[in-house]
Amino acid sequence: MNYFINSTLALALVASLACQTNTSSAHQTASLYEQGQTPPGGRRVVKSDAEWKKQLSPDQYEVLRKHGTERPGTSPLLNVHEDGTFLCAACKNPLFSYKTKFESGTGWPSFYEPITKNAVKVAKDNSYGMERDEVVCAVCDGHLGHVFNDGPKPTGLRYCMNGVAMTFQKK
Ligand SMILES: [Zn+2]
Repeated sequence: MNYFINSTLALALVASLACQTNTSSAHQTASLYEQGQTPPGGRRVVKSDAEWKKQLSPDQYEVLRKHGTERPGTSPLLNVHEDGTFLCAACKNPLFSYKTKFESGTGWPSFYEPITKNAVKVAKDNSYGMERDEVVCAVCDGHLGHVFNDGPKPTGLRYCMNGVAMTFQKK
């Protein structure tokens, strides 16, 4: 039992570290976005934990509501580059355009900019002894991933997303 728990923790830690490459100045990104901003269309989706558990798949629930991290390289959205939009899997809030997706080599779908400034919110995350900027959906507060300062131009940002927290809507 202990061995199982330890290896699960170790896996989670490895996944988090891998998502964390070159993040020396990641803590600066939060100031780019105003906290407490109005979500797109003023829309808010608030549900109880039990309701989310019922609506989401176990993997979606673990990431979106329990701040989990999917295993790198496992998301079918990694190789999606068609014309379309990536939505929050929990509330369908449009998050990222295919135009801002890039190959980060991390094994997680990566973008350099959200589809609108207020589509996501950025919050401090000090879990695992690291200082990172957590990205959550502005409408339902679902955990999506983290943002780092080592992305490509024009923003220099890398939104490291869990594919399981999103769905793709083809244009
Ligand atoms: Zn959402």
